[in-house]
Amino acid sequence: MNIPKIPMSAPDLDENDYQAVLEVLKSGRLALGPKAEEFEKLMAEYIGVKNSIAVSSGTAGLHILVRALGIGEGDEVLVPSFTFCASVNVILYERAKPIFVDIEPETYNIDPEDLERKITKKTKAIMVVDVFGHPAEWDEILRIAEKYNLKVIDDSCEALGAEYKGRKIGQFGDCACFAFYPNKQITTGEGGIIVTNNDEIAKMARSLRNQGREDMGAWLYHERLGYNYRMDEMSAALGVSQLKKIESFLQKREKVANMYTEKLKNYSWVKTPVVKPYVRMSWFVYVITLEEGLDRDKVIEEMEKRGVPARGYFSPIHLQPYIKKMLGTKEGDLPITENISKRTLALPFHNNLKEEEIEKVVSVLREVIEEVL
Ligand SMILES: *Cc1c(COP(=O)(O)O)cnc(C)c1O
Repeated sequence: MNIPKIPMSAPDLDENDYQAVLEVLKSGRLALGPKAEEFEKLMAEYIGVKNSIAVSSGTAGLHILVRALGIGEGDEVLVPSFTFCASVNVILYERAKPIFVDIEPETYNIDPEDLERKITKKTKAIMVVDVFGHPAEWDEILRIAEKYNLKVIDDSCEALGAEYKGRKIGQFGDCACFAFYPNKQITTGEGGIIVTNNDEIAKMARSLRNQGREDMGAWLYHERLGYNYRMDEMSAALGVSQLKKIESFLQKREKVANMYTEKLKNYSWVKTPVVKPYVRMSWFVYVITLEEGLDRDKVIEEMEKRGVPARGYFSPIHLQPYIKKMLGTKEGDLPITENISKRTLALPFHNNLKEEEIEKVVSVLREVIEEVL
């Protein structure tokens, strides 16, 4: 069978999405309009929180939250290294110090035990990440945060729709931020949204995204140093239209993930993703872990040669060149993160991946590992 090239990821867009964006264009109101407000209202309802603030990217939202919580020079923030760089960068933007925490060997989320070990007098906050759409171990994390009086930001950028013990991700910690880059569960092109039950954080976030203006203030009155981190109306309209389909998107993603797991489960050289019994995973990516000793990068190279893309996922942040230079971190700092990140592989994954495409990915992977390596 001749299967066209399989992409790593793909947004799921239909006529309603096209129409929604077109209507905004025709209205002439491209910024600071009703669509961003509508998107915020729908998202707050969906997550089950009081406030939501649409922003221009997930990174922008996380940066605002670091500022809104008053994190700055002299503060330490606990954060996993097994994450996307933005979780760490937003801490550095404010001259606070990221302290890297190792991960649980099953879900690859931040390890509560290592987290507690790394608390010092300077620790001000925890940046939790719900990695790959699997909720972090929230009961433990919040217990520790309360015990040591720490602020908690949830980088929930990979976890829209995920649930922990029956509650939606986005409700945990002081505040959270989702992202809508085209490989996420829903997309707005670029975009993100802050969610929080805390009115003070929400008010500060609205001001910071809008050049430090106050809600009722004049256009050229600026109370504080702010940013232009606003979401435009085309993006917001797309968000509204996409959010209406979130439940079917999550089901499609779960179906694709289950097909992969089913086809991979009998191979001894691979570990498929672990989903704890009391969570709903929202499947951002499908990441497998290769047996120790297999040359993961060679697997990627050989798969690419056979027309199937794959990515090493994640590459630890504490070993990125700029972080090593800034913070003096090194190989050996985080044993589990380092072991796991050398063996993880993200396979092509999107809502509408077909069974024959999944067959092809798995058969190419099998061929590379059993016949080529
Ligand atoms: C996608 C993502 C972000 C935000 O990304 P943007 O491209 O800025 O929207 C932040 N953290 C994690 C863990 C992510 O996966």
